Amino acid sequence: MTVNPSGWRPSSPANEQGEARTVTGNRALMLEEPLLFEIGSVDHTGVDFADLPTRATRLGGLERVRPIGLPGLSEPETVRHYTRLSRQNYAIDLGLFPLGSCTMKHNPRLNEKVARLPGFADVHPLQPQETVQGALQVINELAFWLLDLTGMHGVAMSPKAGAHGELCGLLCIRAALEARGDKREVVLVPESAHGTNPATAAFAGYRVENIPATDAGRVDLEALKSRLGPDVAAVMITNPNTCGLFEPDMKAISDAVHSAGAFVYCDGANFNAIVGKVRPGDLGIDAMHINLHKTFSTPHGGGGPGSGPVVLSEALSPYGPLPFAAKYPDGTYKIVEEETAGEQHPNAFGRMVAFHGQMGMFTRALAYILSHGADGLKQVAEDSVLNANYVLRSLEDVLDAPFAKSGPCMHEAIFSDRGFEGGISTIDLAKALIDEGFHPMTMYFPLVVHGAMLVEPTETESKASLDQFITAVRSIAQRAKAGDQSLKAAPVHAPRRRLDETLAARKPVLTYREHEPAQAAE
Ligand SMILES: *Cc1c(COP(=O)(O)O)cnc(C)c1O
Repeated sequence: MTVNPSGWRPSSPANEQGEARTVTGNRALMLEEPLLFEIGSVDHTGVDFADLPTRATRLGGLERVRPIGLPGLSEPETVRHYTRLSRQNYAIDLGLFPLGSCTMKHNPRLNEKVARLPGFADVHPLQPQETVQGALQVINELAFWLLDLTGMHGVAMSPKAGAHGELCGLLCIRAALEARGDKREVVLVPESAHGTNPATAAFAGYRVENIPATDAGRVDLEALKSRLGPDVAAVMITNPNTCGLFEPDMKAISDAVHSAGAFVYCDGANFNAIVGKVRPGDLGIDAMHINLHKTFSTPHGGGGPGSGPVVLSEALSPYGPLPFAAKYPDGTYKIVEEETAGEQHPNAFGRMVAFHGQMGMFTRALAYILSHGADGLKQVAEDSVLNANYVLRSLEDVLDAPFAKSGPCMHEAIFSDRGFEGGISTIDLAKALIDEGFHPMTMYFPLVVHGAMLVEPTETESKASLDQFITAVRSIAQRAKAGDQSLKAAPVHAPRRRLDETLAARKPVLTYREHEPAQAAE
């Protein structure tokens, strides 16, 4: 089909499914939007300048030899393009985001205001340190809150995501082992772990071995003990775990790991459920990342932005990375860099990032912490666990909840697809949720539960919004159990129907083929 100059193509009055369509393809105020290359044209420009006088070039032969191949669009056309696309997206500011493990909570506007203060937002990492004393104080103050809340000894603030923090923690463990001349090769990871755990251990040069779970969804302590030995460097444990359960044997696990000469890494992504209630340091943990963008709010998703400070035990703190912000006796703050490592921090394993970490996340996290206060943070954990249990108990009669019998869940509730009939599976329920106006929950993770649906409402959802979500899931679950084949067609109200997500992920088409691929200067 040829593309007409003004971008849109008249639709046929019915789509492939035979449903009536509008001539524009728009559905009420949800607007169909072609690609930039379809709206604009490389022969047009969006601005209306008179021809420029020709001048001698000063680029010394480096000028572009071909057109860049980008479509010319005016400002309103460009603004509308991106606004229309953004309206097809779901966001935490639109509704409940039940993604388990991700902790998608409301992001208070106060945090955004604070993060945008020019003294935080506009600092440059190479600015003289005396001009950024306030920013360094924020980093330092947040570090003390994290130490206080976790009961740990030291903290590396610079890692830029949970997974990056895991790597930082394992590199500390590696440095500590190397310092005592101990070559250990294996990291043990439970079957239910987030994929970043084994990936991190492998990236840090370790061989990964699984530790099994009990039928109750917890780490099998006896199996773990029997695998411990002189080749095991560390055990990576998530607590509360990704089945939404607290590991009650954590202290026994840590003691066993330590007496075998290994270290305990805790994946702290689920800290939201225990903040202010449990201090990981009291459980014998040696290193744990805190996803500031989960537990302490920050708009996240789509790969960023994030921040994953790692708290460290006394045994690991000497090996933490550079640089770090330190307060001096005269009340000033300094960034301790590599050059001063000889005096201050001689055993640092190196550095994780070029500069100091994510200033925007630090300010948001500290604003969140200070506006809640110690008592408010405790209530965060209590309310998030209460909300998760409300979801669990409201759905367990229509969805199989494999661990519901072993007691309350932590801040996420897990269900399986057991009992679905007629070939209906988790993906069909998730797609039908889109029609009901909800982002789907986390699906098929953790792997230990068949057709897993992991729901984390977080503490910032009201009872009214939970009730609406529960009503939607109950209705779809009943259809799934009745083998309702219409679920296979869902979503029917979304701008796009079912996409081949595997193909899109494995073979992404990132250039628009109808034109020459865009050429950079050459
Ligand atoms: C989110 C998450 C991670 C990874 O954190 P990122 O900040 O996305 O890198 C690791 N483990 C668990 C359990 C998580 O939920």
